[in-house]
Amino acid sequence: MRVILVIIFLVSVTPYYAQSIRIGLYDNYSTKSFLFIPKKGGYTLFGDSLVSIHLNVGNNVQCKLEGDSISVRIDKKFAGSFNRVLFQQDSLDSYVELKSLNPSIKAHEFRDNFEMSVSKGKLSLVNDVSLANYLAGVIESEGGSGRHLEYYKVQALISRTYALKNLRRHESEGFNLCDAVHCQAYHNMRKYSITIDQAVEETKSEVFVDSNYNLIGTYFHANCGGQTSDASYVWKNSIKYCEPHIDTFCIDTKQAKWNVSIPRSEWERYLLHKFGLDINNEYIMDQMYSFKQKNRLAFYIHPSFGIPLRDLRQKFRLKSTFFDVSLNNNMVVIDGRGFGHGVGLCQEGAMSMAEMGHNYRQIGLFYFSGIRIMDYNKLLFFSEKVYDELD
Ligand SMILES: [Zn+2]
Ligand SMILES: [Zn+2]
Repeated sequence: MRVILVIIFLVSVTPYYAQSIRIGLYDNYSTKSFLFIPKKGGYTLFGDSLVSIHLNVGNNVQCKLEGDSISVRIDKKFAGSFNRVLFQQDSLDSYVELKSLNPSIKAHEFRDNFEMSVSKGKLSLVNDVSLANYLAGVIESEGGSGRHLEYYKVQALISRTYALKNLRRHESEGFNLCDAVHCQAYHNMRKYSITIDQAVEETKSEVFVDSNYNLIGTYFHANCGGQTSDASYVWKNSIKYCEPHIDTFCIDTKQAKWNVSIPRSEWERYLLHKFGLDINNEYIMDQMYSFKQKNRLAFYIHPSFGIPLRDLRQKFRLKSTFFDVSLNNNMVVIDGRGFGHGVGLCQEGAMSMAEMGHNYRQIGLFYFSGIRIMDYNKLLFFSEKVYDELD
């Protein structure tokens, strides 16, 4: 029995703690030319194992895909052609401005080290960044600037838990996570809210785990509209720690309510063609236009018609599935609540809780039921001890 428990525990923890993490930048683009400018602290450029060149603040380094190689020009002067180019920071506070020239994309700033190579006909750029700097960038990209410290701390746990749980997501491409919403949005280094650095530092190593000590799936959305959603209404299965519950913290915020009108013919055409709904049946029509959700539902009208609200949301680009439907002349009026899928943590509710004096632990435990907050190193320490015992 003890052996079984030990094995279960070993499987449930990620086997190493990443102090730094490899992020694939511009992963959604086929970039063929980058401009790299050190903005603070110098860098050393390594071209394969042949060349090392020191870069000062303000140097313009253009890296361009030519054939299968990266052609490097420093302040327009040719510096060499390489398979792999590394940019190593001189000091811990070094950062650069990066701009994709082809395609042309607005410049962004990133910290720490970089590695460029050629992959599938494009330049692959990896930011080898400290976990703390990465998390700070993600929190500002996903949570905005100027928020309360306790709110940022919850976001820090969410992003850290996600990152450590998904370290192998892009393993075959040579990095841990990408910079897009596929993983976590990482558009820039942290620029505006220094409070974010404090939140990352003060929650150092803390993660959310479930009752079996597994890192949880840290789902979140902008506003739940007053009630969080069962995960099975959005995806396939329910999630134990994302049980739906009432949330009064978000109902007076700006995204709490919305409404849109859709031409009746468009609405009915979709229901007829996609689901074969008998739109001329008076009883059904009556149900269609007096549809109300006191509590969140999974289906429109009645489950027996098999019309998932998530399909309507997707088709008509609605902010959420938490809406009522009525008719006004020839327009279908959708009165909705909330923004996003509604599963897990409600960002606007969490912000209100923080403003009202709740701390990040209380906020985290309010939205993720039955979980605990743990120091990731303690999970590892325990697993290492178990390894020793097994040896
Ligand atoms: Zn990804
Ligand atoms: Zn909410």
